[in-house]
Formats: sequence, structure tokens, C-alpha cells
Amino acid sequence: MTQTATEHCRHIFDRRTPEQLRTLSHVKRFMERLAGDLEFRRALSENVDSPRAVTKRYGIEVDPMKMLPLWRGGYLKHRFKPESTPWPLAMMWDEFIREMLRHRDLLREEGEMSTINPRFHAWRERQIRRCNDELGGTAASVTYPIIAFELSDGCTVGCWFCGLSADRFKGYYEYSEEHAALWRGVVGIASEMFGSAARTGFCYWATEPMDNPHYDRFLFDYYQITGALPQTTTAAPLKDRALTTRVLELFKRYRTVTNRFSVLSTTHLDQIHMAFSPEELIGVELVLQGKEALTAKAFTGRARERSEKLRAANKNDAIGLLEGDHTTIACVSGFLVNMLQGRLQLVTLPHGLNPA
Ligand code: SF4
Repeated sequence: MTQTATEHCRHIFDRRTPEQLRTLSHVKRFMERLAGDLEFRRALSENVDSPRAVTKRYGIEVDPMKMLPLWRGGYLKHRFKPESTPWPLAMMWDEFIREMLRHRDLLREEGEMSTINPRFHAWRERQIRRCNDELGGTAASVTYPIIAFELSDGCTVGCWFCGLSADRFKGYYEYSEEHAALWRGVVGIASEMFGSAARTGFCYWATEPMDNPHYDRFLFDYYQITGALPQTTTAAPLKDRALTTRVLELFKRYRTVTNRFSVLSTTHLDQIHMAFSPEELIGVELVLQGKEALTAKAFTGRARERSEKLRAANKNDAIGLLEGDHTTIACVSGFLVNMLQGRLQLVTLPHGLNPA
């Protein structure tokens, strides 16, 4: 039987020993610094023969010499190839990336509803075909969840890249007894109507999850009803540390899907790295949105120009990086439910809009 997205995600983490996970988490931190921090890249390019002097300063406890294909310009060509054996940490990272990409594909497949809801299924398939046609290279990153829930109204963050132009924050949906009963009822009905495709659902849209202090309780109900934890993407992981920690704990316990932090600047990256250890962030993809980041999601227009300027700023081509290693974009083609307003809409990716 084919593995579900949930099973696959669990397997990625369960099949590794704690020591392997620890090593992987430090390689991941190295990659985050490399992609998101110009100063780090500069320091590395000035110390290509003794990179540990640099990584030690950042609390990265792996040897960059054991992963040259991940960061040295001339070695990039060996990535994802058997010839990268001499660099075991590069092999380890690329294997992890491959598994994460497989997970992304399984997430998209999880939204399949041909038997349980053929009409909705046909509509979603049509949206996927349209986006494949319109989005080019980005299309493969979109997972097309079938449902999203907003647990607040508006957003407190106001990111410069907000593709949804979220309104000003007006309040959140409390986890009262009455609301909890309604919530469980709504998720239960979604699960009946859409079967396992309901597992693709998540609990934010033009909202910030951390604006709702009861957010994790809604997640836990979702898990109990559907067997999957909704993915969390937050641009405010430091706003309520206790809440973020509870969300990370849920991941640690059930490991059904990885989470994402949007990192708004290099200072934000510093703060996140300071607040959470590499091990705590092993299941969190850092989506680097800062102006120094090389991993712009849509590598076109201004993003491309910016990236090229950043490359030029690296004094030589000693440092290299593959663009867009494993970014996943969760763009709903399905229902959008605002619990606070009691509003239900059918949404999809608009024509001409690159998901952000
Ligand atoms: S946190 Fe999300 S919804 Fe809020 S402004 Fe940023 S991208 Fe938009």
C-alpha cells in the first residue's frame, strides 16, 4: 500500500537516530545561515580553508569540510549524485531534501477525492492543471490543500510580501466550550465530506496563527478528528514563545507534517536562532524572506535582480547555493472558512498571481 503523507513524514524523523537528527539539525542551521545571512557568506568566503572558525561562532557543530557540495561553488555540481560520497554531511542533507520533496508530493496527492467527492475533485484537478500551465517552475511546490480555516480576523504582522493583503487585526476566535463544540463539528463534517483529503487542511490564511493564543487547542482537535496535524506557517514565532513551543511539541509528538517560520530579516533570523536550538527546529522549514536571502520563492523580476546583486556582493564564486531547495507553498484550491465571522468561501490561486 502507498504511504500517506502523514506516514511518510513520521518515517523521515523516526528512522533516524537522535544523533543523526542532531547532526542533521546542525547542517540545516548551516544552510539557513548560508541562504539568509550575507555576513555569514562573506565570512565563509574569506575562510574557505578553515570554515570551522566561522561556524563555531554561530554555534554550528558540524564540519563544513564534510559538506563541500552544499556551499562551495566548484562542488555544487556533485549534489544529489553518488560522487558526493566523500562528503557524508552533504549526502545526508540531500537525502533529507529528497524525502521532504517526496513528502510535498504526497501532500498534494492526499487532496485527491475522486471517490468520495468526484465533483470537487474534478474542480481541484482543473485548478492544478491551470496553475501548472501558468506558474512554470513554481507549480511543483504548490500542494493545493482543499480547506483552510481562519481562527482570527485580520493579522497583526503586516509583512511586506503578504500576497493576501491581510486586513488589520480585529480579534481572534476563542476556544470556549461553545466554540470548541462548533469547531469539532465543522472539522468532523469536513472529514465526512472529503475523507482523508481533509488532512490537507490548515488553520490560517489572511491571518497569523500566533494571533490566536488558543491556536494549539484547535490543532489538537483537528489531529484527533482527521489523524493529521495541520501545518503551521507563522511569521511571528517569537510573539508568544509558550504557544510556539506548544505547537513544536505537537509536532514532536505526532510528526505528521513539518511547520514553517517566515523569517522577515537577518535580525529576525538571529533572534529565531537564539530562541530555538537547531534540534528544536529540525521540523521547521525557515522560509527566508529577508532582503539578504538567496531563496526568493519566485526567482523572477525584482527577486531575481536582488539575488544577482547579492551574488555579486560575494567577492568571488567560492560560495555557491542551489536556489529554492525545498520550499513548499500551501495554496488552497477549495474552501476557506472564517470561524469568527462564520464565513465560507470557495477560493483558488488567482490568475497571474505567484504564490507568496
Ligand atoms: S503574517 Fe501572513 S497574513 Fe499576516 S501579513 Fe504576514 S503573510 Fe500576511
